[in-house]
Amino acid sequence: MANKERFFAEIEQALKQVLPKDKQYIALHEPTFAGKEWEYVKDCLDTGWVSSVGKYVDKFEADLAEFTGVKRAVAVVNGTAALHICLLLVGVKAEDEVLMPALTFIATANAVSYCRAVPHFIDSDFTTLGVDAQKLDEYLTKIAEIRAGECYNKLTNRRIKAVVPMHTFGHPVNLTALENICQKYKLELVEDAAESLGSYYKGQHTGNCGKVAALSFNGNKTITTGGGGAILTNDLELGTLAKHLTTTAKLAHRWEFRHDQVAYNYRLPNLNAALGCAQLEQLPGFLQKKRLLADNYQAALANIKGVEFFKEPADCKSNYWLNAILLDKEFAPYRDELLAYLNEHGLMCRPVWNLMYTLPMYANCPKMDCAQAEDIARRLINIPSGSSLI
Ligand SMILES: *Cc1c(COP(=O)(O)O)cnc(C)c1O
Repeated sequence: MANKERFFAEIEQALKQVLPKDKQYIALHEPTFAGKEWEYVKDCLDTGWVSSVGKYVDKFEADLAEFTGVKRAVAVVNGTAALHICLLLVGVKAEDEVLMPALTFIATANAVSYCRAVPHFIDSDFTTLGVDAQKLDEYLTKIAEIRAGECYNKLTNRRIKAVVPMHTFGHPVNLTALENICQKYKLELVEDAAESLGSYYKGQHTGNCGKVAALSFNGNKTITTGGGGAILTNDLELGTLAKHLTTTAKLAHRWEFRHDQVAYNYRLPNLNAALGCAQLEQLPGFLQKKRLLADNYQAALANIKGVEFFKEPADCKSNYWLNAILLDKEFAPYRDELLAYLNEHGLMCRPVWNLMYTLPMYANCPKMDCAQAEDIARRLINIPSGSSLI
């Protein structure tokens, strides 16, 4: 292609026009520690409260619940663990099928596997990059049937228990349509909100829609605790159960070690929660900067033919966790060359995840036609997105 080199250089220049000029290399998403991180972490060390309980764990949970508008937040060791417990909480059992996007990070599928359940992959759409609700509805009409109030896959004879939409790069999926599908087919809705802290669907923070939702505070997310996650719920009983299941199911007692079921040590250490409290204080500022960065990218890329900056869906306010560009079909075959070019020119850029069913352990799982997810995966590139870049 004759104008390929020019196309690559145009994109490089557009990105560099937006990004800081004084850096040799710009990472995809670096954390920012500009608040009280040192003070709170030092307090943990000074007082000896570094481990699995402490005031920062309690404060982080309370602050998270307040920010997201849920009744209860339970802090855990990472986002994958949060998803695992969410699935158990809605009753996912061995041999159940769980509907989830083929286009997601591996954690969504792994959490389903930890329950000895089977991921069932669904397509994504171009307006949200998440689950295509309409296509899912049409698909379920064909393959699902309700038996005694529960949904079954007619083809595999397995129960379909839940659907786990994921808010890709912080862009909320069509939750209203998914809620309707869940009602119609007797499914539980579990939001994988790992990427969407600070993202709103029709004015409500993501993670409020189903019974439970999962957040992640990994090092590359909008705020970080080093590693960490949280379970969100508006059902106080489920919240109590979430805490119980993630803290070895120990019954409260002055000295006795009584546990009433096999459970998990998924606690977030106080040290990490201290970091989380300081990060959460800065979240509104991070979100403002990320939105400005996205606006600047959009403006800078607007006049380049062959590439489109991905904007938040209608009725949504995204956190713009990771900014994304989509190449036009004619440039799709050069995605890897463009990735190499940008990375060689000091800009850390990445493709989206490999679709789950292309990975060996998930190759034989049930799936619908995922033509749109395949198209997105061929054409999407993530560009530097940290809140310190502006
Ligand atoms: C980050 C992430 C998770 C959780 O990851 P952890 O590293 O376990 O915190 C889950 N799902 C998605 C889509 C993610 O991006």
